[in-house]
This record gives sequence, C-alpha cells and structure tokens, in this order.
Amino acid sequence: MTRIAIIGGGISGLSAAFRLERARREGADVRDTLFESSDRLGGVMRTERVEGCLIEAGPDSFLSEKQSAAELCRELGIADQLIGSNDAYRRTYILVKGRLIEMPDGLQFMVPTKLWPTVMTPLFSWGTKLRMAREFFASPHQTNGDESAAAFVERHFGPEVVDRLADPLLAGVYGGSAERLSVRAVLPRFLDMEARYGSLSRAMLAAMKKRPANGARPIFTSMKDGMQQLVDAVLARLDPDAIRTGARIKALGREGSDWIVLRQDSTAARFDRVIIATPAYIAAGLLRSVEPHLAGLLGETAYSSSVTVALGYATAGFDGRGAKREDGFGFLVPRSERKRLLACTFVHNKFPHRVPEDRLLLRVFLGGSHDPDVLQVPDEEILRTVRVELQQILGLTAEPLFSRIYRWERSMAQYEVGHLERVAEVERLRAVLPGLALAGNAYRGIGVPDCIKSGMDAAGNALSLC
Ligand SMILES: Cc1cc2nc3c(=O)[nH]c(=O)nc-3n(C[C@H](O)[C@H](O)[C@H](O)COP(=O)(O)OP(=O)(O)OC[C@H]3O[C@@H](n4cnc5c(N)ncnc54)[C@H](O)[C@@H]3O)c2cc1C
Repeated sequence: MTRIAIIGGGISGLSAAFRLERARREGADVRDTLFESSDRLGGVMRTERVEGCLIEAGPDSFLSEKQSAAELCRELGIADQLIGSNDAYRRTYILVKGRLIEMPDGLQFMVPTKLWPTVMTPLFSWGTKLRMAREFFASPHQTNGDESAAAFVERHFGPEVVDRLADPLLAGVYGGSAERLSVRAVLPRFLDMEARYGSLSRAMLAAMKKRPANGARPIFTSMKDGMQQLVDAVLARLDPDAIRTGARIKALGREGSDWIVLRQDSTAARFDRVIIATPAYIAAGLLRSVEPHLAGLLGETAYSSSVTVALGYATAGFDGRGAKREDGFGFLVPRSERKRLLACTFVHNKFPHRVPEDRLLLRVFLGGSHDPDVLQVPDEEILRTVRVELQQILGLTAEPLFSRIYRWERSMAQYEVGHLERVAEVERLRAVLPGLALAGNAYRGIGVPDCIKSGMDAAGNALSLC
C-alpha cells in the first residue's frame, strides 16, 4: 500500500485528496492522510450567512472559462448548484478624481474593442484615446524575456491605462501591483496576441469573431449556497478518518525512501509520498532540511495580504449613489486616488439571490502589496475608514445593519517578473526528490480553478509513482 500525506486543507489540498479517494475507490492501493493546521477545512474559501445575506469571506466566484472547478462540481454531482453572475447588471466603475466613471462598453479586460464608447468615455484623456487608435495599427512583435505587466500595458496604451485599469484590475485578482507582476505569468494571452497581431485590440476583435454565437456564458460562476458548498461537497466524499484538523506540520524529513512528517506536537508519521498544498513560504520551512536550495526558491515567492469587509444595509433608507439594485457589479479604485479601499462589489447585483430584497450587501477589499499594514489595523478603525471612504465615493451615510471583517494574511502569491523561470526551477528541483508534489496558488495560477487543477495534478503525480 502506498501511503500519501497531504499537507494543507485549502481547496488545493482537498482537490488532491478527492482525486486520491477516487483512485482508491477505483482500486488503487493507496491510503492518504490530510493534515490541516487550523480547525476548519477550505482555507480561504469560507461562506457565512448573516441576516439572510450570503457572505463570502474569501473568493466569491471563479472565471467561467476555466473549466476545472465546474468539472469538479460535475464529478461531485453538484453541477446543478453552479450559478452564473447576473451579467445583465455587469457594469464596473472606476474612481477617477473622486468620481465614479463606468468602464466603457467593449473594453475586454483593458483592451478597447469598440470605437464609439472608447471615443466618448471620460475615463481616458484625449492623449490616451489617440494612443489607443494608434495601437490598432501596431505590427506583430515578439518579446524576449519577461517584463512587468505595467511596462507591457504602457507600451500599448500609455501610463493612464496602467493607472486607471491595469493596476486596479490586477490588484483585484492578485492583490498585487502591475509594476511588479510578470506579464508572462499574469497576461500570457496578451503576449501571444502581441506576437501574432501586434495590436491587442485587433487580436481581441479577431478572437471575439471566432467565439461561437451562443457562447455568451456569464463571466463568473459560483455556487448557489456559496463557495463553501464546494468545500463541503468534497469533504462529504472523503474518509473522515483520513483527515486531521488542528494538525500543524512543522517539518519534513527523509529516511531511506520514506518521508517523515513531523507535527507541531512532535508526533511523527511515515509516508511514501508527500503533497504540500500550503503557501510556498510554509512549504519552504517544511523542506528546509530536506532540500535547502528548493526551500530557498520557494521562500522567495512574495505574498500579499488582504482584508475583506462585508456591510449589510436595509434597502429602505440606503443612500449609496450608484450602488443600488441594478446599478452594476461595483467599482475599482486606482492607487492614484489615494484611498485605502481597493475595490467594492455590490453583491446584491452580482449575485442577487444572495441578498434578500429588503437588504443590500457591499463587499469591500483593502490591503494588497501596497498596504500590508492594514492587517494590523483594529476592526473599529477599519470600519471607520471604510465608512468614511464609502461616504466620499458613494455619498453613503446610512448605518449598516451588520458588518463582518475577514483578514487574510499572506494568502495571495505574487507572480513577480521572472516568476515562470522560478517555477520551472522549482519543478526541476522537486522532480529529483522522489515522492514530492507541490500544489497551491504559488505556481501556475491563483484562481480557484487553477488551485483545483494544481491539487488534482499533484495527486496524479503521486499516483503515477505508485
Ligand atoms: C480575499 C480573497 C479573495 C479571492 N477571490 C477569488 C475569487 O473571487 N475567485 C478566484 O478564483 N480566486 C480568488 N481568490 C484566490 C483563491 O481563493 C486562492 O488562491 C485559493 O483558494 C487558494 O487555495 P489553497 O488551497 O491553495 O490555499 P489556502 O486556501 O491558503 O489553503 C492552505 C491551507 O494550508 C493550511 N496550512 C498552512 N500551514 C500549514 C501547516 N504547517 N500544516 C498544515 N496545514 C497548513 C492553512 O491553514 C490552509 O487551510 C481569492 C483569495 C483571497 C484571499
């Protein structure tokens, strides 16, 4: 029998456990044990219900175009629980000089594809609009090496698009800054477009033409009862005896071909394979005495921290301009606006059935790589700041019925320039350590579907060695 340890019970580790359990039921002679340091499973995926509102403490959905999350739901028999975002209200606003401006129609991520809305929008200056027009005629261009997402976007559309779109959009996904994130790691599709077409706008239009006419699915997918539903469905498939919560692993060791898994309480167990599904800096600590070079590389991965704040309001008396029902998905705040808020989602519009008719729910994001100190700010001060800034931005003075604050310390890996080279080197060093697999958001994708795939692949890797 092959004994496999999984360290970390977020969605990456749970996906690995699910794949191993499936293999076991299909006859593979494996036995896995999942170690999770906290007393709950799911990691940053956590859903709460407060006064009839469904609150996501961490991720609220995933990109529909990435298939692994929906595939997992199908395997779990909960595909009927998948829901799409309410794209009828899919308008996003950007704060510019204190005023919310709607992102113009036809903007695909940050690439303009429609002439008239781009010409008319007050989001960009005339200089930027001219630059966008010129970009349309750019020639194919192959970039060697890596550069920052900011440098890449600036080459195409100028600095204003970096400040007003690229940076806030990437902060929304990675909690990071466009100046540091690697274009090869976070915008690989744009690099392909540049190589083939030169102009991103032309490339995007060509891609849109090829899309099937009925292919207009919602951009985001989630679960009816929140993302925790996915965690719970995976857990229901696992053998409870194979799960150890409150089990912090403090080190790994090698004895012959065995892996020794040492817990904080100093108990140890032997395994044939180990899947580490924790953040990379934890993996670095675990591997320090086994492979210091690999541990060093893993430890170099930067992380950002974030705080999410949910605020519930009574619909009657709500005075938030532009945040009422049907007003859009929310807004992003460029750093040049000098606010602590990074973004705000109007949950009642994005996923209406998560909020009763007589309630409105805002979800606000703070932190990211430019504001790591927010994690140390006491709850009352965070709430005060959020309410002051919401008043400045939305004119919102109504008293919230409830609020919830969630802190996520060093939870988002930062794919900085050179990331893919580092990951390739991590993979090379890992491959020479028999029986070790790595999963999580530090390697080839930060989103929930990427993490599910990383866990499944890590389990596949462990099984292939059996
Ligand atoms: C606020 C926020 C919003 C997000 N929004 C979205 C979104 O809308 N859509 C999307 O696709 N993605 C989103 N993401 C990203 C995505 O949710 C994460 O990348 C993903 O869930 C990470 O899963 P994971 O299992 O790799 O890591 P984690 O969820 O961090 O799990 C790692 C687990 O390892 C455990 N652990 C750590 N150390 C040890 C140890 N020594 N021994 C044992 N266990 C240990 C931890 O307790 C934790 O449970 C968001 C992330 C955050 C933080």
